Parts: sequence; structure tokens; C-alpha cells
Amino acid sequence: MKRSHSAGSTGAAKLVPFCPVCETQYGSASVAALGKEGETELVHLTCRSCSTGVLAVILNGESGSSSVGVVTDLTVEDARRFRRSRRVNTDDVIEVHRLFSDAAWTQTFLPRPVRRPRVKSTAKTPAKRRQAPLS
Ligand SMILES: [Zn+2]
Repeated sequence: MKRSHSAGSTGAAKLVPFCPVCETQYGSASVAALGKEGETELVHLTCRSCSTGVLAVILNGESGSSSVGVVTDLTVEDARRFRRSRRVNTDDVIEVHRLFSDAAWTQTFLPRPVRRPRVKSTAKTPAKRRQAPLS
């Protein structure tokens, strides 16, 4: 798999020097550049010790660089996939609102009760005792 690292990725490891969960230092190999737009760059950092992911926005301004990061359960591949995917628009939100306004959505998404197959017992059940006729 091809990994892309920009010059900013090395800077990302300096701006976000260690994992916020276990405090292990990031190396440059832990940083994947996801995209750049103007002065900002989006990177994904993966802790080599605890595998925690961090999405960080690096701002490279004239007066210096700064970063904002958030812990995520997205892998690098997840982050790339979501970045490429279509943006959610107003029609998508209205469609979801309509879907959940109708109680029938539960039929679509909630798990259905599992029907257990009938198991034929091979064990012989004791014959019913005949009741003696009352005299
Ligand atoms: Zn960690």
C-alpha cells in the first residue's frame, strides 16, 4: 500500500509529539497526510504502542504552525475513505428524518427475533399413563 507523507507530516509529529492516551512519542512513520488545502493540512497519527488514532489539522501560518487534534477510532484507511466519499447534503438529512419519522424503520434496522428450528427429539418420551376408569 502506498503511503503518502508530505513535508508537513514530519511537522505533524513535532506539533503532536505524543499519543494523548499512552504518551508514547510519535515517529514520522506514524503520520499519514490525508490532504492539504491552503495553509491547513489534515493528518492521521497512529500510536505504535496502543494503536489509538488521532486526526489533526495542522495550520501552517506565516507566524508559525499550530495544530488541533482529536482522538478517533478511524483508521488511516477509514479516514481516507470518508474523505473521498460524497458530502452529506440537505436532501440526505431530510431523507433520514422521514425515515425515522415512520415507525416502520424498526422493521428495517432492528434485529428480528431468531426463530429456533424445531428439534425433533430422538429420545422416547414415556407413554402417557392411562388413567384407570373410575368405578
Ligand atoms: Zn498510545
